[in-house]
This record gives sequence, structure tokens and C-alpha cells, in this order.
Amino acid sequence: MRADVIIVGGGPAGAVLAWKLSRKLRVLVIDKRHLLQEDRIHAEEKCCGGMLDHSAQKELAHLGLPLPQKIVMDPQIFTVRAIDFDGRMERYYQRNYMNIDRAEFDSWLLKLAAARKNVKVLEGASAYSFEASSEEVIVKVRLEDGSQEEIHGSFLVGADGASSAVKKYVVKRWNPKFREPKVYASIQEWHPVKEPLPYYGAMFDRQVTDYYSWIIPKTVKEGGVLPAGNYFLMGSAIPADSRETAGGSVKERFERMRWDMTSRGFDVDHPAKTSGAMILRPHMFGSILTGRERVFLCGEAAGLISPSSSEGISFAMRSGEALARSFKNVSPADSEAPAAVRKKYEKNLAPLKLSIAIKCLKSPIMYGKLPRGLVFRSRALSMKVLKKTERWN
Ligand SMILES: Cc1cc2nc3c(=O)[nH]c(=O)nc-3n(C[C@H](O)[C@H](O)[C@H](O)COP(=O)(O)OP(=O)(O)OC[C@H]3O[C@@H](n4cnc5c(N)ncnc54)[C@H](O)[C@@H]3O)c2cc1C
Repeated sequence: MRADVIIVGGGPAGAVLAWKLSRKLRVLVIDKRHLLQEDRIHAEEKCCGGMLDHSAQKELAHLGLPLPQKIVMDPQIFTVRAIDFDGRMERYYQRNYMNIDRAEFDSWLLKLAAARKNVKVLEGASAYSFEASSEEVIVKVRLEDGSQEEIHGSFLVGADGASSAVKKYVVKRWNPKFREPKVYASIQEWHPVKEPLPYYGAMFDRQVTDYYSWIIPKTVKEGGVLPAGNYFLMGSAIPADSRETAGGSVKERFERMRWDMTSRGFDVDHPAKTSGAMILRPHMFGSILTGRERVFLCGEAAGLISPSSSEGISFAMRSGEALARSFKNVSPADSEAPAAVRKKYEKNLAPLKLSIAIKCLKSPIMYGKLPRGLVFRSRALSMKVLKKTERWN
């Protein structure tokens, strides 16, 4: 098999890239999942809060993409309840997130790309080996039936998320001194609840994590993996190296969070579903890697994700689009093409990198016990929520 651009990963970064790439290029998207098969998408759903913040909403607006109703998930909420277990305080803030069904969202984006004549999607295929020379790239994939295939292309793009195999290849081959972003292990549980919670929750407890934990209400419709009904997600991003620290292992810390929630009146002993994923947390300098020569990285594979909130969907879509723009008027046969695309990509990524740097500066205020305590005490930007609308569970 041969393609001009081989994209490993059909999540938001890979899907937007494939959809926006020049129609003159033959594009192949390889994904382990089956995002084009409606009956499989929920079983293979990416572990995610499924919240579109203003940047993701702005990117959808920029791309001219109205969100289909089936992606929108009940309830839509405009309140964040921030609970500071360290300082024993809580505040409410007004926010405009959009609650979405992440499985439907990923499927919708990849279907847009798959509808293009120049785009082919290879589902249920895991890419496991990469080789780049000055002339071409070679990707080996394992298919569902256990067979293997070798794919040749002019360019390789790693849009394969936080645990990117393409990035590992890039680091090993060209950047052995690369300073990885801090890695967090996130665990997320779905808990059934009688009525939808009227807020999103952000919880801060340093005995659990130096990052944060969350609760997100979700109403599941018929036809998914879970029985239809109201749920809330309870999740936490815990330093992956916790085993070595005094605070206990990832699992012990998550249990501490369960204890926190129980103490607040939540019934969190019997999750209906549990999932997990890695989250990268960029540091101020050098945690973003865009690839080398004929190999490019985008989305979370490149380290593009908010260090203050873990919001990564907008960064994924924006970087996918930025890379597609960088391929404009490029001929794969041109030996100067890799350098030309790289130059444009670096330029197109500058606003995303700046945004991450600004969020890196914001993080110590949000996550330092003292500054957060001062912000909570000042009640700046917080709002009052009437007692009768306050439901614990
Ligand atoms: C617990 C949690 C909660 C989050 N909540 C939010 C949120 O509410 N809002 C938000 O904006 N962001 C959130 N994020 C971050 C967000 O999910 C990611 O930043 C975003 O999904 C990155 O998109 P991507 O396309 O770069 O990668 P991904 O969405 O991870 O997609 C990567 C794709 O590559 C495929 N793949 C991986 N390896 C291979 C391989 N070897 N061969 C073939 N296919 C492969 C995968 O199947 C997947 O489809 C959350 C993350 C976590 C872990």
C-alpha cells in the first residue's frame, strides 16, 4: 500500500488534518479503533471528560463546523463548583463549556475526513514500526486478523495521542535528550445518580494530586455501552510516578479522592464503568516536539495540551489544521518539501505554543495552595448559587 501522507491516529488531530489536507494528496489514516462503525464507537471511547471549552468551540466555528445534535450530551451546565480540600473552601464560577459525547464527536470528525475522495481510513489497525529515510517513510501495521502490512509513504504524521508510538520513534532516533512533559495517570469512573448534578466539579487535594480531580454530569442515551440514565464522571489526574512519593500509589491516591467525595455525600462506591489514560502536562520550555525530516507530530502526540486544565481537543484540532495548511502547494516528489512543510508548521504552531506558555504561567496560581487560597478568599470572579439549587447527590 502507498500514500502521500500516512497519519497514525484518527482522533481529533488526525481527523481534522486528513479532512483539511489538500485533495491532491493521497492520505491514509490508520487507527486501532473503529470510529466509522456506529455500534463499536462507545466500547472504544477515548477516556475523556468530553467538555468543549471556548477554544474548541472557536476552532469549530473557524472550521465552519456546526455540531450535530447527537454529539451534544445532556445536561448543558454553566456552573463550575471548585472545592479546595486543602484550604477547606469552595466557590462557584460561571463557565460556558459544552458537554459532548466524546465517542460520537471523534466518529463525526473522522467521518468528515473519510468522505473525502483522497482519504482512506484503515480501522482496527495498529501501527507498530516506523522507518524514515531521506526518500520515504515506511510504517508497519498489525491488522485485526493478525496479518501485517507494510505501508510506504512520502510523509508520516503521528497523531496518536499521549502515548504516541511515532513520538517514541522520533525521540529515539533524533531527540534522545528530549525532556518529556510530566506524565499523569488519569482514572475516570462513571457513577449512576438519580438526578443530573447541576454543576461541574473541580477538586483540589494535594494528598490526591498536585493537579486536579473532577466531576462531570452525563446523561447517557439508549444504545451505548452503559444503561441509559444519569451519571457523573469522577476522575483524577495523578502523577504517574506516585509510587515513589510519600503520598502513595496512583490507586491509593484515587481512593483518597473517593474518600473526599464520600465525605461530601456522594455515593461513589459502585462505578458502572472505569477507564484510564495518560495525560501529559507541558512545562514552560521544550516539551513540545513537532517531529523531524519526513515525520511530523500533532495533537497530544506533539505535547499540545493545556497544562492548567488538560483541555486538549482544541489543541488537537488546531494543530491538525495548522499542519494541513503547512502542506499547501507542496509536491510530495519535491526533495525540499519536508523542510518547507516544517518551516510553515513551526510558524503556524506559534500561537498554540504561546497559549501553552501563558497557561504554564497561570498554573502556579491555580495549583499553589497559598495563591489559590487568596483567590478563593477574595471571591474574585466567583458567584453565589442559591442554596435550593445546590444538590449534593
Ligand atoms: C481523563 C481525560 C479527560 C480529558 N478531558 C478533556 C476534556 O474534557 N476536554 C478536552 O478538551 N480535553 C480533554 N482531555 C484531553 C483530550 O482527550 C486529548 O488532548 C485529545 O483527545 C487529543 O487528541 P489527539 O487527536 O491528539 O489524540 P487522541 O484523541 O488520543 O487520538 C489518538 C488516536 O490514535 C489512535 N492510536 C494511538 N496509537 C495508535 C497506533 N499505534 N496505531 C493506530 N492507532 C493508534 C487511537 O486509537 C486514537 O484514536 C482529557 C484527557 C484525559 C486523559
